Amino acid sequence: MNAPDIIVIGGGIAGLSAAAALSGHARVAVLEAEEQIGYHSSGRSATMLHYALGDRLVRALTLASRPFFENPPEAFAGTPLGHRMPVLVHAREEERAALDALDSEISQFAQLERLDAAGVHQLCPLLRSDALYGIADFDGIRLDPHALLQGNLRQLRSRGGELHTGARIARIERAAGSWTVTSDKGDRFSAPILVNAAGSWADAVGKLAGVLPLGLEPKRRTIITFDAPHGAALDALPFTKTIGDELYFAPESGRLFASPMDEVPSDPCDAQPDEYEVALAAFRMEERTTVEVRQIHSKWAGLRTFTPDRHPAAGFAPDAKGFFWLAGQGGYGLQTSPAMAAVVRSLIARTPWPVSDVSPEELSPARFLRQPA
Ligand SMILES: Cc1cc2nc3c(=O)[nH]c(=O)nc-3n(C[C@H](O)[C@H](O)[C@H](O)COP(=O)(O)OP(=O)(O)OC[C@H]3O[C@@H](n4cnc5c(N)ncnc54)[C@H](O)[C@@H]3O)c2cc1C
Repeated sequence: MNAPDIIVIGGGIAGLSAAAALSGHARVAVLEAEEQIGYHSSGRSATMLHYALGDRLVRALTLASRPFFENPPEAFAGTPLGHRMPVLVHAREEERAALDALDSEISQFAQLERLDAAGVHQLCPLLRSDALYGIADFDGIRLDPHALLQGNLRQLRSRGGELHTGARIARIERAAGSWTVTSDKGDRFSAPILVNAAGSWADAVGKLAGVLPLGLEPKRRTIITFDAPHGAALDALPFTKTIGDELYFAPESGRLFASPMDEVPSDPCDAQPDEYEVALAAFRMEERTTVEVRQIHSKWAGLRTFTPDRHPAAGFAPDAKGFFWLAGQGGYGLQTSPAMAAVVRSLIARTPWPVSDVSPEELSPARFLRQPA
């Protein structure tokens, strides 16, 4: 299918979920530079759905995505896309006002339980005694990114769509109402609509097409895994986060994982963990909990790519016909992917607008591309 109706550049969760959603309406080809899907950000996340991330718009997209995760379409073959994991946000005495503020913001989207010190330690016995206050959402979801990526791919293929891996797009031209993209191996694909879901590389792909950039900023985040204390009831532990962006940790395949919630500016790349953030994760884990991080079992880093206002961008470029931006999912690209895919379908296939609390203008890439008066 070298002449589909729609080309999607990027085989991460953004590109694959949008392609799967569009495939009921058009012939879609996904072009992915790597040999496997989800190799970059989508395969390196903390895999949580929770509301302590982002702001009203991000929470609205997350809430709108929940039904998909809870009742996936048939093509997902009954594979669960995640499992319930409680989310605990905790605070010290001097952080109480910030916890109150977060509580009132989140409570419009999730049912929260307010916890005193005893409740905090009952839910997460690993925390030190200065964790005095908490809010808990017992409906958090630990997502399964593999199931999510594979389910979307299955849906795409079952509707005649295609995935081409090892197809790094190196040239983009527009002629006679069509976009022609050429991979670094010389393979060519043409379509009237080109969806740019290239994650951290989305501005670079935009540049190839000669469109104005959004001003995307990739930021590196690091995760380490290590042994839990002997006898810790891992299955019962929540995803546990400081009220400030300092540390989160959760159970991970019989161990614990933790992130110092770093946001280190980076060029688009195959992100690698830096020793400083690895040490910071271990330090903050020991500062906030009674866990001793004796040996780091594994570590990785990934890029979270933000637009200038930290809201995702989805919509046709105002400066190039048929060029569609799907970028800037930041730290919430998995948990918002079903709603964002429905948004893409709505804007391209003209289906009803799917998220009543978010307007097309709020997501439009045009908000970054207005020329100064
Ligand atoms: C440490 C960490 C923790 C996170 N935690 C969470 C979380 O708990 N919950 C959550 O919802 N989100 C989380 N995220 C964010 C989430 O992972 C991202 O928002 C999401 O994966 C972005 O998806 P994407 O498809 O845009 O990007 P990617 O997965 O990076 O996909 C983009 C793809 O485009 C391809 N590409 C680029 N250029 C080209 C080209 N020229 N030709 C062909 N292909 C190209 C790349 O190879 C890549 O595969 C986290 C991220 C990190 C790093």
